[in-house]
Amino acid sequence: MSIQNTSLSGRKKQVSNKEMTLGERLYIGAIAGGMATTFKHLFKKKVTINYPEETRPFSPVYRGQHMLMRDEEGRERCTACGLCALSCPAEAITMKAAERKPEEKHLYREEKYAEIYEINMLRCIYCGLCEEACPKQAIYLTKSKKIVKADTNREHFIFGKEQLVMPLDQAIQNTAKSE
Ligand code: SF4
Ligand code: SF4
Repeated sequence: MSIQNTSLSGRKKQVSNKEMTLGERLYIGAIAGGMATTFKHLFKKKVTINYPEETRPFSPVYRGQHMLMRDEEGRERCTACGLCALSCPAEAITMKAAERKPEEKHLYREEKYAEIYEINMLRCIYCGLCEEACPKQAIYLTKSKKIVKADTNREHFIFGKEQLVMPLDQAIQNTAKSE
């Protein structure tokens, strides 16, 4: 027996070339079917939202945009060890280390700091591995509703220290709360 007419999925259909009836040629049945589907969806709850005016509720374990943390004295915690970059599966992190000068002790906690620290937000998959790899608790994915905004320029998705480092007043507030 030939296997040409059998179908593994059972969904194979024999195409018919029979002449269409007048009703089929007027497409009334097809149009009515299409309109019925449209009307059925008119009264269903919409799955779309008017973003950015409306936002969906965030999950309690939501991971938002990264933040480079400051310590209780407002100094940057990052020591530019590169472990976050090494652990990043998307190779989204790059940095350049620099030696801290004696007069910069109030700015950087460690003797070495990140002069440049960049994350390519187009590459990032928000896995949180950078956060887990960091020995200085210097990088966190924020739980706030901070999301990376849409843009038409790819360059704008390279976030540097100006977007990533925790604002100084926030560090001061955190210290005041913990006291
Ligand atoms: S969250 Fe994941 S992908 Fe994004 S920068 Fe960190 S390690 Fe890389
Ligand atoms: S964020 Fe943490 S892991 Fe990454 S370079 Fe700075 S100290 Fe090292």
